[in-house]
Amino acid sequence: MTEPQVFTDPAELRAALQGRGTVGFVPTMGYLHDGHATLMRWARQSCDTVVLSIYVNPLQFGPNEDYASYPRDLERDLKVARSAGVDFVFAPSDATMYPPGFSTRVSVNGVSDTLDGLSRPGHFTGVATVVLKLLNLVRPDKVFLGEKDWQQVAVLRRMITDLNVAVEVVGVPTVRSEEAASLGLALSSRNSYLNEEQKARATVLSRALRAVQAAYAAGERDTQALKQAGLNVLKTEPDAQLDYLTVVDSNLQETPRIAEDPFNRILIAARMFGVRLIDNMPLSANNGAHP
Ligand code: AMP
Repeated sequence: MTEPQVFTDPAELRAALQGRGTVGFVPTMGYLHDGHATLMRWARQSCDTVVLSIYVNPLQFGPNEDYASYPRDLERDLKVARSAGVDFVFAPSDATMYPPGFSTRVSVNGVSDTLDGLSRPGHFTGVATVVLKLLNLVRPDKVFLGEKDWQQVAVLRRMITDLNVAVEVVGVPTVRSEEAASLGLALSSRNSYLNEEQKARATVLSRALRAVQAAYAAGERDTQALKQAGLNVLKTEPDAQLDYLTVVDSNLQETPRIAEDPFNRILIAARMFGVRLIDNMPLSANNGAHP
């Protein structure tokens, strides 16, 4: 295992990538966990060179969000990157990403305007802007994105299609905490804000999603009734303040009754112990990865 080489200068990274074959890219905000490492391992398996970016992007945080307190630990991240076989780490400065005079925004309409887009105004514009910049700097063949952020994958796929970005998107299934295996909490850098007891209680999100899946498997097709199955579980945890629980089709639309759509998905967002948590699962075991 060799040490990943760290770059802050995009020109130096580009020079190092010359003649390195196919490039797989994993954009992150750091404080890496096994979900991120899984993206890196997928990239390692299908590409000659793996580039990881670590950049806490100020543009995607709202004024009352946790930009200042977002966890950061480059030394620790480099160890995770090393064990996942990353070749190059790109860790640009704010001055590199947003020099004085920077004034362009990439806004992906429609798909950004629901769910997290409503709760976090400007968030997806910030994400799309930084990811397009990173794609232009790294110029990868494939970009690996976690399905944990289902709407984010939809937004970025839309942007990549609409703006003819020459990159293949690979969606990677959500990695959950080990205890209680399939019921576990989706791994997130923000879980570091929670203590062990709070993490255990936060599994109410994934348990609510499972309850919706079970109701669907039992034949329920009415969207309100499906949602109610999840809400009943959520009610058992008084510390969960629900933002949304919804069942959507491949266009992220909620309809009164569930139609056969291989990409039907249950999405949840809630605030617990001062932390905003999101999760999602396929409605049925037959539902696939992001279209
Ligand atoms: P972040 O650092 O939170 O911006 O995440 C960087 C990438 O890792 C995004 O594509 C996320 O969707 C993905 N990711 C975050 N958590 C998980 C997880 N638990 N399982 C799989 N991918 C994840």
